[in-house]
Amino acid sequence: MLLTVDPQSLRTQIAPAACWTCAPTTNEAQKDTRLMRAVAGAGADIHKGGPVSQNAGLTHGAGEGAYVTGDLCPTAKPLDRSFIETMMKQGPHTPLALAVSGLWIKEHPADFQWLVARKREGALDISWVDHSYRHRYTPKLDETKNYLMQPGSNIDAEITETEKTLISAGQTPSVFFRFPGLVADAALMEKLRARHLVALGADAWLVLSPPPRAGSVVLVHPNGNEPAGIRLFSKYLEAGKIPRPFRRIEDAP
Ligand SMILES: [Zn+2]
Repeated sequence: MLLTVDPQSLRTQIAPAACWTCAPTTNEAQKDTRLMRAVAGAGADIHKGGPVSQNAGLTHGAGEGAYVTGDLCPTAKPLDRSFIETMMKQGPHTPLALAVSGLWIKEHPADFQWLVARKREGALDISWVDHSYRHRYTPKLDETKNYLMQPGSNIDAEITETEKTLISAGQTPSVFFRFPGLVADAALMEKLRARHLVALGADAWLVLSPPPRAGSVVLVHPNGNEPAGIRLFSKYLEAGKIPRPFRRIEDAP
């Protein structure tokens, strides 16, 4: 089987290798595709020797509406199903990008299967964003040396272990990756680019940012760790302060 990405639509799929004829290519040959422009453009503000970015990647999407994203970082708390149900009430196939860590899936099998069922029945159109496997974080450690910049971090393992976890559950990883804490330096961003993944930041982390505007990448934590953000989402939604329509993250770059 192959995990493929369409270089124009950015949609991914898992397909039998026998159905494809593969030929080698280069970054140069692909550079004018939407995929390669997205890969190069995300986090282009991060420079070697410059400061660590606390919002690493694509922070704002194209056009009207909003790109709603929810992070499922590891936690002992249960999934905030009320947020998912609020999204479902917006109509069938409502797009929602969930940045999921492998450990969250491992520790919340029932909640994960519940999400998969909502996707399967068409209540939500979930795009799975890779949020690393372990979501490394050490409290009180300087941000410039924390998260995936900690010694011993293996970004390949962090990416592929989450992908394998998703695929073995019948799901298809998207072409997006969200760094733990949204924090990355130039070296990490370069490694992600080499793997042709699009880093995803956010310009409307609701508990930290002003209300979203047209094209905003909205960030909440439905993992139970940030109930204030979920409350704000509902409040903004009722007040019409979240631009419509909700759009697929694949349309953002
Ligand atoms: Zn996280």
